[in-house]
Amino acid sequence: MADPQTPSARWPWQRSLQTRILLSFGAVFLIALLLLLILLGRVVYQAEITAAVDTLEVDAFLVANALDDPLSGFNAEFDQFAHWEEEHERPALPERDEHATSALDQPAAALAVLPASNRLQQVADRYASNTGTRITILTPQGVAIADSVAPAASIDNQIDQTEVQAAMRGLGAHEIRVDPASGQAVLHAAAPVSQGTRLLGVVQLAQPLDVTLERVRKTLASFALAGLAALLVAGILAVWLGRRLIRPIRNLESASLAIADGDLQRRVPVESADEIGELGRAFNSMAQQVQITVEKQRQFVANASHELRTPVTNIKLRSEALLGGGVADSERARRYLSEIDSEADRLGRLANTLLDLSRLESGAVVHDEQAELVDPALIISAVTDDLRLRVESAGLALSVDIPAGLPAILVRPEQIEAALINLLDNSIKFTPPGGTLSLGVQAVDGVCRITISDTGPGIPADDLPYVFDRFYRVDKAHSRQSGRSSLGSGAGLGLAIVQTLIEENNGQIRVTSVVGEGTTFTIDLPTAGA
Ligand code: ATP
Ligand code: MG
Repeated sequence: MADPQTPSARWPWQRSLQTRILLSFGAVFLIALLLLLILLGRVVYQAEITAAVDTLEVDAFLVANALDDPLSGFNAEFDQFAHWEEEHERPALPERDEHATSALDQPAAALAVLPASNRLQQVADRYASNTGTRITILTPQGVAIADSVAPAASIDNQIDQTEVQAAMRGLGAHEIRVDPASGQAVLHAAAPVSQGTRLLGVVQLAQPLDVTLERVRKTLASFALAGLAALLVAGILAVWLGRRLIRPIRNLESASLAIADGDLQRRVPVESADEIGELGRAFNSMAQQVQITVEKQRQFVANASHELRTPVTNIKLRSEALLGGGVADSERARRYLSEIDSEADRLGRLANTLLDLSRLESGAVVHDEQAELVDPALIISAVTDDLRLRVESAGLALSVDIPAGLPAILVRPEQIEAALINLLDNSIKFTPPGGTLSLGVQAVDGVCRITISDTGPGIPADDLPYVFDRFYRVDKAHSRQSGRSSLGSGAGLGLAIVQTLIEENNGQIRVTSVVGEGTTFTIDLPTAGA
């Protein structure tokens, strides 16, 4: 069954990131290749055509130059046609007329009787056999005198062709026309044969462009082939790159599933310093945090049940002894009953403390009360008033130092009082008679700093980092081993609660201690202005 949270892919390739990368890569490459080929095609075509035009125009001029050389005697040939035309009263130059565009309108009879020139025909034949280019030699009226392909008499009048017109004005010109018979593109160029200002005739060259176009096609084909080869190489590269890119993502996926399955130790290998590497690192640290949290929770449940079991066992032992009638001594029976009573109290307290702690940590309590601006001196004196009797009965001295003019703090005063009472409770509990407890308060660097010190046994450096953990007690072994009621030894929850209370009020707490000399807890609370 499909996971309802998985967005459905419309096409199969949408399921694979690698295929997507590959396809986009290929599409971009193909478009680029196509554009490049179009551009290149134009450039190559232009270059080839320009070269062909140049060659043909120069050739036309060379032939024309050879023909108009007075020493060559060709001018006599041309003259012969001029005379012939005068005699036959041929119009000198037909008017340019929209309706008479081609030789079809020329009198056919005149063409038929125009005598062929053997010498010019020889020139045409030789030139054509040397170059493979068709050559036509025309009179100034556009009538063919010699042609290398067909009999001159069968050639249409060329007077209206662009290149012939230009040649008659003394210019070199060219035009590409499609031959209606073969459907081929043919390049035409012409040059004037003239002596001084007198036009003797026109040399017209025609070269099919198929060879040129074939060359363009071949060039483009080889470019396309090279492009496709590059596409292939790029494709292989993209597959390889895609694999490299996808692997860490797949790793993340399988690690997530493994963690969801309960394998909290699972981590992903971090192979790169890029964003995916960062993602892997973030994933690993998240996994570690989850593992720590779950481990803490497990520990908490184990400790809580253990703590609850101890007083229950104590009660059970005593009630069984009493019920079994084995306690004849009424003094002892009363002691058992009073111990049962204290253990029941302890159970109740423990249950309440656990409840407080879980409420505190869920933030439920905090939002019931509002933070208010209070004078820290008031909080301190309320706490010392509460505890003064207990301190004295424990045989301890209490020194309190409250300077005047302290800045107000923005806190929930009951919570801060509860925290201070917890700390002083520890000091009273752990400091042997004759010791001193000191309570100080001062304004430092925008915070209100409260210190609680005692001259008790101190906390070993190894234990110091853990004293704020729930259920952590330094001297667990002693309190258990003693076999006496666990009365007097706490559950190890006090400092955990203190830390939560302080942090809920945007404060910080830390502890320093020297074994044999004493312990100091320091609390920093934000002042109103901070
Ligand atoms: P609870 O507070 O739950 O009744 P507790 O006092 O044992 O029990 P915490 O207040 O959390 O627990 O203190 C944790 C441990 O830190 C104590 O068991 C004790 O070993 C050590 N400790 C705390 N305060 C002092 C102190 N002032 N001097 C020496 N050791 C201390
Ligand atoms: Mg305590």
